Amino acid sequence: NDMHTDKKYLGRGSKMAAKLIKGIEIREEILGDIRKEVQKISNKYGVIPGLATILVGDNPASISYVTLKVETANRLGFKEIQENLPEDISEEELFALIAGYNKDDTINGILVQLPLPEHIDEKKVLYAIDPDKDVDGFHPINIGRLMLGGSEVKFPPCTPAGIHEMIIRAGVNTDGAEVVVVGRSNIVGKPIANMLLQKDPHANSTVTVAHTHTKDLAAHCRRADILIVAAGVPGLVRPEWIKPGACVIDVGVNRIGEKISEKTGKKVAVLRGDVDFEAVSKIAGAITPVPGGVGPMTITMLMQNTLNSLKYKLGIMQV
Ligand code: NAD
Repeated sequence: NDMHTDKKYLGRGSKMAAKLIKGIEIREEILGDIRKEVQKISNKYGVIPGLATILVGDNPASISYVTLKVETANRLGFKEIQENLPEDISEEELFALIAGYNKDDTINGILVQLPLPEHIDEKKVLYAIDPDKDVDGFHPINIGRLMLGGSEVKFPPCTPAGIHEMIIRAGVNTDGAEVVVVGRSNIVGKPIANMLLQKDPHANSTVTVAHTHTKDLAAHCRRADILIVAAGVPGLVRPEWIKPGACVIDVGVNRIGEKISEKTGKKVAVLRGDVDFEAVSKIAGAITPVPGGVGPMTITMLMQNTLNSLKYKLGIMQV
């Protein structure tokens, strides 16, 4: 894993105390490295990473996520297949499609965009994907590997992997740090908590996971050297909850309204994080913005996992 520490991604806004951790800049650097590696592998082995993205129905948030994933894969020179399936597709048809990509040698990653319609069992779908092509890292085998840690980890789930990479590249010390994670979902809270408690110089944290049944959320947050918030509640985290100088990672993406984009003239969602950014950035030492923070990192790590999947297959990367 070629993670490294670098303070150059940090910038300071005028009225802020906190340094801004810029996900977009970190993304560009990682994508640049991926693009170079794709070229090298293509020249040497005559193959490129292949990603199949499967979208069921027309949920606007899902469409925008899938579109971004497809565009990014194309930019990197991946083979990209996009399946847009009707809302009423049967489970059998979806499984048949997944089975086809499981067998397809040119496909290294299969991504089924969640959430799925009611009549499709999400759990069964995640089990149906070949764990060696599960670039989202949601298959129980990959979750088990993540829990074991170290060289067992094959496909870390993308959002937690992106958070971890941002913390490392921002030069924030995790070793012995008090980490508080707000949220215990399978896709963010639980895996990032797990990653940071592993015995590793880029982890070794003391981790607390808070959730809706936590008694005094504010008191836990106040202890945090690194506070990671993935609750889905806009502006939940108040400035009084922040230890001065703490690193605050805001995972929340909440659609609080709509506006007309100045760039495109089209209607776009107004996004807000789980942290009261304005006020918290006066107290924190480093903070991620929403948008432009964790979001871009998630797609980046999906691309990294897809490239790694090909590298595992070629035997040039081991687990
Ligand atoms: P989820 O709804 O599955 O889980 C939310 C968790 O937060 C739950 O475990 C719940 O116990 C906890 N929680 C909710 N309200 C709380 C409160 N008031 N106090 C304490 N704990 C509380 O959500 P998720 O899928 O983990 O996503 C969380 C947020 O992160 C959402 O806003 C989502 O849109 C965003 N997200 C962003 C990315 C990204 O790439 N940037 C990726 C995944 C999720």
